Amino acid sequence: MVVEDEEAFVDALSVGLAREGFEVEVCRDGGEALRRFEEVAPDLVLLDVMLPTISGVDVCRELRRHSDVPIIMVTARAAEIDTVVGLEVGADDYVAKPYRLRELVARMRAVIRRHRPRGGPGEESGLEGSDEVAAGTLLVEGEVSLDIARHEVRVHGDLVTLPLKEFEVLSLLMENPGRVIERSTLIDVVWGYDYVGDTKTLDVHIKRLRAKIEDDPANPRRITTIRGLGYKFNAI
Ligand code: CA
Repeated sequence: MVVEDEEAFVDALSVGLAREGFEVEVCRDGGEALRRFEEVAPDLVLLDVMLPTISGVDVCRELRRHSDVPIIMVTARAAEIDTVVGLEVGADDYVAKPYRLRELVARMRAVIRRHRPRGGPGEESGLEGSDEVAAGTLLVEGEVSLDIARHEVRVHGDLVTLPLKEFEVLSLLMENPGRVIERSTLIDVVWGYDYVGDTKTLDVHIKRLRAKIEDDPANPRRITTIRGLGYKFNAI
């Protein structure tokens, strides 16, 4: 459910998200979002902060009274994110306009994935129902686990120390296991939109990451290269 009053964004999101396989319902103001929430029963709400009738902040608070639907809030400027986060309205993630569709989609998939109940086949049964899993801060894929809140990575249960950028690259890959994350998305998310440096920096970080999390860094199986496109995390 896209809650957005600016036509340019509504049009771009309707087309772009449909192309990514999402079914999009648009609400043009906060009141409409609250009225239609039950009927639409969305898997995710993309919620603009500045809205007519009822603000995105108040819509989020109201939804949180009875729903744990994933919510990504959209602010008009990056600087506003701190203010909105400080209000603790219960959103799952925040993005600032202008954003790139591919970054938004990566975050949407990550939030939806974190929200899914864990404990299905292939999950370690000991983790079921733990607070960390419920809070969505612990990603477990194969023999690698990543705790976002504690900033900890374990491989085969052994603690591995990662600098911030390597940690961010790994968490983005692990939030979307089995999916190719484009080089440009990784660079955008980790280094920012205005990054103009040598994109080889990404390859250097991937190489260091592999040295720490692969059983055989010379023949990587967890982080694989999709030539000309990007990288993919495989649960091994
Ligand atoms: Ca707006």
